[in-house]
Amino acid sequence: MKLRAHHLLCIQKFTGHGYDAAFTAHMTAVCTQLRRSPESPVLLTDGCDTLCSACPHRVGSFCDSAEKVSALDAAVCKACGIQTGAVCSWERLRELSRTRVLQSKLFHAICCGCQWYALCRHVEVSDGNENCSDT
Ligand code: SF4
Ligand code: SF4
Repeated sequence: MKLRAHHLLCIQKFTGHGYDAAFTAHMTAVCTQLRRSPESPVLLTDGCDTLCSACPHRVGSFCDSAEKVSALDAAVCKACGIQTGAVCSWERLRELSRTRVLQSKLFHAICCGCQWYALCRHVEVSDGNENCSDT
């Protein structure tokens, strides 16, 4: 599975809300897959990824907010000490992004400009407990 770095955060904060029904259904399926198989290898990418594939904001192989999402990716990579092109297990990336971003002051610093922040800031995260439904 390919993931952009900032999506490590979004997956853990996901509570069933998305851009449209197709995107939300796809994201729910991805979250469920990762929860069931935390050892899954994840390739970090700086382009469109598994989640983007079902997003209405994807235009060809680009995001229509490319500059904004690239800045989010860079901030998460820096905070977690990870790089595009690396392959790590989901459980390792989940732990890194949870402890270094989601459960630190960096969460506000990195995510406060996102349209979903008002929702995500109220979602608690804990190890191995993504918020998506197990369906
Ligand atoms: S605020 Fe935005 S970037 Fe941050 S976790 Fe939520 S959806 Fe992802
Ligand atoms: S295309 Fe853009 S808005 Fe859509 S999931 Fe990917 S990074 Fe997020």
